Amino acid sequence: MAKSVIDPGHAGGRTDPGACNPITGLQEADVNLAVSKLVAHYLDTAGCLVRLTRTEKEQQETDSLQYRCDVANYWGADLFVSLHCNSATNPAAKGFEIYTTKGNTGADRIATCITNQVAATFPELQIRVDWSDGDVDKEENFYVLRYTNAPAVLVEMAFISNPEEAALLADPTWQDEMARAIARGVTDWLSK
Ligand SMILES: [Zn+2]
Repeated sequence: MAKSVIDPGHAGGRTDPGACNPITGLQEADVNLAVSKLVAHYLDTAGCLVRLTRTEKEQQETDSLQYRCDVANYWGADLFVSLHCNSATNPAAKGFEIYTTKGNTGADRIATCITNQVAATFPELQIRVDWSDGDVDKEENFYVLRYTNAPAVLVEMAFISNPEEAALLADPTWQDEMARAIARGVTDWLSK
């Protein structure tokens, strides 16, 4: 059975709330955790073994990015998916992004599978893609992508700094649909 690690970005609470909406106070770490738990649930239902790197609203050890990589590396995970909300100073910035490390890697196909499912589920959601290297993912050597042995992707679900998208990110129905789309992307990749 495939071993999936889902990583709710940021440690939560006072340790590291991540990005926050300046008007509503919505905290990225809480959204990341809520959606991650749902992704884990759907992958479990699909027959995957799943671990979350964080299960509490504030979990101080997860302030160490290496801790998150270690969860996956010591377990021998087959894939690693980190969930985040994007943020920008311009409140009009919006959309979905997915990152892998630079170059062609085993994660590129995971990114494509997840993007396809998210795009099909949310026709209104702008998919901010980077085709310069031949596929949809953007590339950054983020720590959790670089130091996780398994193929790893980092999802920026939407912009918490955008008023409309912040409302979606706070909506349990939207969270559930996003989680299902990500889980379907993972199972698409596993079945290929
Ligand atoms: Zn983040």
